[in-house]
Amino acid sequence: MTVARFAPSPTGLLHVGNLRTALMNWLIARKAGGTFILRIDDTDPERSEQRFVDAIRRDLDWLGLGWDREERQSTRFDRYAEATEQLRGNSRVYDCFETPLELDLKRKKQLAMGRPPVYDRAALMLTNAERDHLRETRNPHLRFLLEHQAIQWDDLIRGPQRVDAASVSDPVLIKADGQLLYTLASVVDDADFGITHVVRGADHVTNTGAQIQIFEALGVSAPAFAHHSLLTGPGGEALSKRLGTLSLADLRDNGVEPLALLSFMARLGSGQSIEVVADHGALIEGFDISTFGLAPTRFDPEELALHSAKTLRVLPVEAVADRLAEMGVPTDAQAPFWAAIGPNLDRLAEAADWWTLCRDGTAPFIAPEDAEFVNEALPLLPPKPWGPESWSEWTKAVKTATGRKGRGLFLPLRRALTGRDTGPDMAALMPLLLGPVSR
Ligand code: GLU
Repeated sequence: MTVARFAPSPTGLLHVGNLRTALMNWLIARKAGGTFILRIDDTDPERSEQRFVDAIRRDLDWLGLGWDREERQSTRFDRYAEATEQLRGNSRVYDCFETPLELDLKRKKQLAMGRPPVYDRAALMLTNAERDHLRETRNPHLRFLLEHQAIQWDDLIRGPQRVDAASVSDPVLIKADGQLLYTLASVVDDADFGITHVVRGADHVTNTGAQIQIFEALGVSAPAFAHHSLLTGPGGEALSKRLGTLSLADLRDNGVEPLALLSFMARLGSGQSIEVVADHGALIEGFDISTFGLAPTRFDPEELALHSAKTLRVLPVEAVADRLAEMGVPTDAQAPFWAAIGPNLDRLAEAADWWTLCRDGTAPFIAPEDAEFVNEALPLLPPKPWGPESWSEWTKAVKTATGRKGRGLFLPLRRALTGRDTGPDMAALMPLLLGPVSR
C-alpha cells in the first residue's frame, strides 16, 4: 500500500516550490490508489501559525489536491519523547553543551584551517564530572550519533545516492530550550504512519542521509526517497527572491486556473511536455517521477499565464459552473454563455464583464465616420429573442441596404452591440444579449 505525505511547516504561505512537492507526493499516492496524508510540521511554536495552517488547507482545496488524513506534529510530542528514549537506550543520542556562539567559533576555526565545518563530537569526550558541572549552568541540546559510513539509497529522481556520514555533523534532535526539531519528528511520523514514499526538494539530500540512519536506529525501514530539483526564476535566479509574487494565494488572485497550475507543475522539469488537460485524471495517468531531471527547473510566470488561458478555454462548463453562478449567470444560461465567451478568455474573472454586458447591455461605441451607417443598421436588427442565425440575418440585411462588407461592415456592428472592438464570435454572443440596445 502506497502512503505519501505532504509536510509543510505552517510558517508562511505555500509557494510554487512547495506545490511541486505537494503535487508529486499527491500524484504518487493517487496513481497507486494509495493514501495521501497532510502533515502539519508545527513543532516550532514561535513560527507556526494557525492562519498558515488554514491557508495551506485553502490552497490544497482550491487545487483539488484532497488528502485522506491530517496529522499535526504538535500533538505528538509524547511519541517523540518515547522515540528519543529508545535512541538514548541504544546510545545513539548524546547531550552537548556548546552555546551557539561556541559552535560558531568552532566552525570558523575549521573553515580557516581548510577543514569541513563538521561538529567535532567534543561533548563525547567530557567526563561525567564535567558534564554534571556544565549541567548546573546550561541546558544540553541533544545530538544523534551518526555511524561514520557511507549512507546509500536509490533516489527515484536522482538515481543512486551516497552521503558520507563522516562529512555531516551529528544532527541536533532537541534544542537546549527543549524544542524538538523536525529531523526526528519527521522520521518518527514517517515510520508510524507507514509512509512508503517521500518526495521533497534537493535541499533535503544531506538530511535524508542522516534520517536514514535514524530510521535504522529506531528499527524501522526507511521509505523510498525522491529529491526534486529546486525551482529558479525565468532568468535562473533564486526563486526565494520573488516569492512574494509566487505564493499560491497570489497566483489564485491573479486568475491562474488551478488545473492549469497543476498540469504545468506536474510536468515542468520532466522529459514530458506540458499539456492542457481537462481533469485531474489525465495528470495522474501520465505522471512518471523518473522523467524528472536533476538540473534546477526554471519557472516562468508568463508561461504559466499562457498555459492557464489555454486550459481555461477548453474547460467544460461544469468545471466553471460554480464560479459563473457566483457572477450571477443563471443556471440555464451558463452553457450557451460559456460556449460563446469561454474560448475568448485569458482569465475567468473577465467573464463577469461579459455577463454584465449580456444582461444589461452597454453603451455602444460608434466612431463618428460610422454614425450614419449604424443609424441605418440598427432598425434592421431582427426582432428579439435573438437566435444563432440573428447575426447573419442582420449583417446580410445591412450589407444589402448599405453595400458595406468585410471589416467595414462587421466592426461597427460589433461595436454598436458590445461597445468593444474584439470579443466572442458574434453569432454565439448575440442570442445572449438580453439587455436593451442603446444608440
Ligand atoms: N516540513 C519540512 C519542510 O517543509 C518537510 C520536509 C519533508 O518532506 O520531510 O521542509
